[in-house]
Amino acid sequence: MRVDKLLANMGYGSRKEVKKLLKSGALNVNKEVVKDGKVHVNTEDDEIEIFGELIEYRDYIYIMMNKPKGVISATEDNNERTVVDLLEPEDALFEPFPVGRLDKDTTGLMLLTNDGKLTHQLTSPKKKVDKRYRVHIDAPLTVADEEALKEGVELDDGYVTKPAKLSYPNEESKTVILLTITEGKFHQVKRMFKARGRKVVALKRERIGSLLLDPSLEPGTYRELTDEELHLLY
Ligand code: URA
Repeated sequence: MRVDKLLANMGYGSRKEVKKLLKSGALNVNKEVVKDGKVHVNTEDDEIEIFGELIEYRDYIYIMMNKPKGVISATEDNNERTVVDLLEPEDALFEPFPVGRLDKDTTGLMLLTNDGKLTHQLTSPKKKVDKRYRVHIDAPLTVADEEALKEGVELDDGYVTKPAKLSYPNEESKTVILLTITEGKFHQVKRMFKARGRKVVALKRERIGSLLLDPSLEPGTYRELTDEELHLLY
């Protein structure tokens, strides 16, 4: 790859800015200053330093965030804080976007990446990737409600949901439910419970496919996926 492209891809500014940066002697490749943007580097093998700092070039970033309440799952918005606003500048440089949507008041597992192929794989309805939610509702379910939610309920627009899995993490508290669905209709979980006369009072996504939210991530914090975690998704 050409060094000017590499620097631009890594967010070191416009073509003009990159040119200026190179001219200033900020880039070293294998300990040699490189000022010509046309020079090629091998991003796997060459030792690339910018301002004396060794950099690791990569195209993609994969972030696991524990989305807090009060931020929206978008890249930018004029009025609301977004999940991308929570990223450090060096991660935002990769221009990641949220994979799928969570409501403003929903917390939990949110993936952010700039890898469109993975995004498609996780969000395409055809792929039927399951998502598990921890749902707090205002009043316990009856056995009939449980069965209906598992089989499929009719939402307010007439859509009948696909079969879901339902369990209780704690048998004593029938207002906390683990619900696994393979779809992602607008406000789906809230509307499924509404169809049975219940209100969702708190909603957290805990799993996407085989990937679990890291319980040590506080709301509003994030980390990159490990290679093992990425392999669970790909
Ligand atoms: N279902 C909802 O109702 N809201 C979410 O944020 C996710 C799933």
